[in-house]
Amino acid sequence: MASRVAVVRCDRYDEKEVKVQVERLLSLLGENDLPPNVLIKPNMLSARAPSAAVTTHPSVLSALISMLPKPCFLGDCPPSTKRPVEGYWNECGFSQLSQETGAQLLKLEGKSKIMEVKLGRRKADFPVTALAFEHPVINVAKLKTHGLTVLTCAIKNLYGLIPGYSKSILHALFPDPESFSKLLVALYRVLQDRVILHIVDAVEGMEGPGPSHGIVRHLGFLVAGRDAVAVDMVCARLTGFKVNDIPFLRIYGKKFGFPDIELVGDDIAPVSDFKRPAGMILFKIAQWHLLSPLLRAISRCFAIVPEVDTAKCIRCMRCVQVCPKEAISGKTMKIDKKKCINCLCCYEVCPIDSIQLKKSRIVRFFM
Ligand code: SF4
Ligand code: SF4
Repeated sequence: MASRVAVVRCDRYDEKEVKVQVERLLSLLGENDLPPNVLIKPNMLSARAPSAAVTTHPSVLSALISMLPKPCFLGDCPPSTKRPVEGYWNECGFSQLSQETGAQLLKLEGKSKIMEVKLGRRKADFPVTALAFEHPVINVAKLKTHGLTVLTCAIKNLYGLIPGYSKSILHALFPDPESFSKLLVALYRVLQDRVILHIVDAVEGMEGPGPSHGIVRHLGFLVAGRDAVAVDMVCARLTGFKVNDIPFLRIYGKKFGFPDIELVGDDIAPVSDFKRPAGMILFKIAQWHLLSPLLRAISRCFAIVPEVDTAKCIRCMRCVQVCPKEAISGKTMKIDKKKCINCLCCYEVCPIDSIQLKKSRIVRFFM
């Protein structure tokens, strides 16, 4: 049976308009009877205002909450920066959302369930918040480019159900796009029965150097479905990517096959000039270098390395705290290139854009 994916046009974050369109989305999917006790999982990557398009917009969450029986809950695991989660709630507009809608904010760190997965010959175990197994989950992602996975929509957003510190460790264990994408696929397989619905906020998305410092791009649509693979395939097509450009989709398709998709809703033409993330060439190299140590050596020439702009840096230390390899000196703010694994966690958490991605000459040539 084909996986149904609904796409509707929504041109701005006007409360009334978003509510109408979210209601249409759910009606197109036949989701008229959602259960109580739902845990809504937004994108809360960074403590940034909704206008930065880094996090799920509160108006999309508000529309969904208005359709859910109470109680309902909202929560995400922020990156491991030792910053209290309340700071994220306030900046992202979720504290106000909770007051206005009655949705209860939950801290997802704490009790976890350990998952064991096999990734080819490797085994990995990692914690997932226990709350994901105690509540039906609705995943409300943001459409953005991503330096490690090309695109982040529904599947990648589930990575936020892993507590922050463990996310950093996993980045260290699975540093390249291929192995990290395999991990994402394994995580999705573990969680897929827990998530009853995936919604992607693509009213204002992000292009270029996402997921936190890219360019806000008006896209004007919302996407939803019960199958995250089908939802992400549609998001990829609408932003002009081939599904095989997205490492976790390619890996999923090769292993389990791509679902047939029944597309319903508005006619939306793909965006023709959506800016790619800086390292698209790296994703191709990453595929090859698994096949050949020689290409692995060559791929070093293609590295894009983070560098702190010390004049701009406000010494908040979030990058130092989040780095899984302790590669950033808190005194000098220099990054030890030998230790750095290019996971870009530091780049993602910097609140003021003072980490730049330095491209090698070869990368600049290809771009
Ligand atoms: S310096 Fe940044 S990119 Fe390098 S390992 Fe640390 S967090 Fe990752
Ligand atoms: S580079 Fe950014 S995250 Fe790191 S200390 Fe400076 S301002 Fe904070």
